[in-house]
Amino acid sequence: MQGIPRAIRGFHQDEHGDWVAELICGHTQHVRHNPPWIERPWVTTAEGRAGHLGQTLYCKHCVTETPAQLHPALRGLLLGIGWLCVVLGAIGVVVPLLPTTPLLLLAAACFARASQRFYHWLLNAPVLGRFIRDYRAGLGIPLRAKIIALTLLWGTILSSAVLFVPLWPVRALLLLIASTVSVHLLRLPTRRAAA
Ligand SMILES: [Zn+2]
Repeated sequence: MQGIPRAIRGFHQDEHGDWVAELICGHTQHVRHNPPWIERPWVTTAEGRAGHLGQTLYCKHCVTETPAQLHPALRGLLLGIGWLCVVLGAIGVVVPLLPTTPLLLLAAACFARASQRFYHWLLNAPVLGRFIRDYRAGLGIPLRAKIIALTLLWGTILSSAVLFVPLWPVRALLLLIASTVSVHLLRLPTRRAAA
């Protein structure tokens, strides 16, 4: 299993300080310099890493995600769910009631099986793709984004519950949704300083 050639779009370090290449497909691959077993002295310098941007590595994750022949109805269903998740996730970027990252991860999972074209479009989309790439790179969500999302979430929910919703069961439901989304947001890893 050789993998599919994918260009390197960036680098970050894992928790042990080993270097990890971020590929254009959204997957990552370790590029260790661990002499005398693995000699990659270039990875230890900023210039060396910059010189390797755009070069290709063989991504094994992409092989396992290559779509098999799907029944057209199943493919249509996956594409439908994928696009619904993209639309909801995109709304979620602005309206934090909808958890963008999980929706986009679900969309990517659907597209990976149904359409390589949409899969790569989504992963390399300037705004939406970043949620998936950051999540896969283990970078999590920036602290600032968490604070903004939680503030907007509770501001919207509380004001609409108090001002526009007279029914207690619906108020309770809104609070339940807000709590669930908050827990989900808080449990996502917080992104460290810019890589
Ligand atoms: Zn890949």
